[in-house]
Amino acid sequence: MLPQEIIRKKRDGAALSGEEIAFFVRGISDGSVGEGQIAALAMAVYFNDMNMDERVAFTQAMCHSGQVLEWRSLNLPGPVLDKHSTGGVGDLVSLLLGPMVAACGGFVPMISGRGLGHTGGTLDKLEAIPGYQVAPDPQILRNVVREVGVAIIGQTAQLAPADKRVYGIRDVTATVESIAMITGSILAKKLAAGLDALVMDVKTGSGAFMPTLEKSVALAESIVAVGNGAGMRTSALLTDMNEPLAPCAGNAIEVRCAIDYLTGKSRPARLHEVTLALCAQMLVLGGLAEDSAKARVKLQRALDSGTAAERFARMVKALGGPSDLLEQPERHLPLAEHRLAIPAPRGGFVQSCDCRALGLAVVELGGGRIDPAARIDFAVGLGAFAQLGDAIESGQPLAVIHARDQATAQRAIAAVQAAFTIGDSAPATRPLVYRSVPPQA
Ligand code: URA
Repeated sequence: MLPQEIIRKKRDGAALSGEEIAFFVRGISDGSVGEGQIAALAMAVYFNDMNMDERVAFTQAMCHSGQVLEWRSLNLPGPVLDKHSTGGVGDLVSLLLGPMVAACGGFVPMISGRGLGHTGGTLDKLEAIPGYQVAPDPQILRNVVREVGVAIIGQTAQLAPADKRVYGIRDVTATVESIAMITGSILAKKLAAGLDALVMDVKTGSGAFMPTLEKSVALAESIVAVGNGAGMRTSALLTDMNEPLAPCAGNAIEVRCAIDYLTGKSRPARLHEVTLALCAQMLVLGGLAEDSAKARVKLQRALDSGTAAERFARMVKALGGPSDLLEQPERHLPLAEHRLAIPAPRGGFVQSCDCRALGLAVVELGGGRIDPAARIDFAVGLGAFAQLGDAIESGQPLAVIHARDQATAQRAIAAVQAAFTIGDSAPATRPLVYRSVPPQA
């Protein structure tokens, strides 16, 4: 087999066989397939797509390009479950969901990522916790998953290494936006984590990675079909990202919000609903609840009894963080000293919000990366966001900024004011969960 013949076949619109895909992906891993050839195949796939069989073969080949985690030998008394989100602003669900599902009998080895563009990353949020090890020794990961039920860590070089090479090339050749390749990229890493079941949260709206509802639906359906085709029970929810999910965005500020949620101090409604919906799907997929209603009862009990909060505290401690994080979040998660309210430029109803622009405002404050090697300032961010539909008077706060200095604060004020549209009437309400894609879809 020759890589160029495989590229030619896809260029001409034909379907590749499983053997051809496995051969090409092996070449990506061992370096025998060149960068130009990977770019050419990515462009051919971008234009000519892959059918579901090809997507399954591509995903499995990428998964097997590296280590596949194995949990069977631990004889865990429950299913190995995870959730993945396409990313958004104020999306701190992972910090809540992992401990909640663990408190209900699931085991969650969550391999999470860094912020990408305007979206926040779970890994960056966890690194805001002093001492927290996002890259523990594999044996520590196994121990924490077994003992605590949840460990949220970062991607390792051993998991799906072919994806790392392909993703880097897609990123600089305008070929990221291929649903076939996004499906393979996400699922290869999740399959390599050795999961029994996965729930996918595909975002749609002004802060989402996919540009339209149709594309979000297509991605959700592709992930569900390929995940199940590859032997991992997979379902998806399409959820709204037309405004931040939590009332804040940033790193330390989102961890504080997660602690407030878990300890019951404050459970913002949008965040609570999406978290419960995703957790309930996980419990049902994992056989830990008969249906969504029963799952919700279990989850609410795990929150109200404090067992979910306790799992979070144990995970943080086991991975090197402070043992009193839940008791003293302000001490360990300081916020930047310039705290300013951002006044609404006029009165009326909050009609829409450019959620992507809010995410970028956090990046500009220093809370995200402009280049991949940049250091993050965990203490900056935005809080107390006004919500769509809120009636607001001129000068009332649209949000609160935590910035390092006046100059960056002033820039963020302008960006946040421009991101909100205030009009004379309330906008139509949107669903928070647009659609559910069950495993058999
Ligand atoms: N996230 C991934 O991991 N891969 C993609 O291709 C896109 C988003």
